[in-house]
Amino acid sequence: MKCLICKQAETYPGVTTVTLERGGLTLVVKKVPAQVCPNCGEAYADENATSQLLETAGEMARIGTLVDVRQYMPPETMPQYPVKSLN
Ligand SMILES: [Zn+2]
Repeated sequence: MKCLICKQAETYPGVTTVTLERGGLTLVVKKVPAQVCPNCGEAYADENATSQLLETAGEMARIGTLVDVRQYMPPETMPQYPVKSLN
């Protein structure tokens, strides 16, 4: 796709670092799949990956995590918090 920021170049598949804040939680996720602009360096994180990370961040905030730094993993390998068993 064409970069939305500089409108000068086509983005290419790469990775980026995403920082999410939820409640008191700051979650930093490295190597998230993204489209990266070779001209200005803007990175557009993959939508599916982002929504998955938001969900994870919501759970982590709920159990009281304040800071976490991790590397992105596809959903099937992402450690799952035992939400359902906490009843
Ligand atoms: Zn650009």
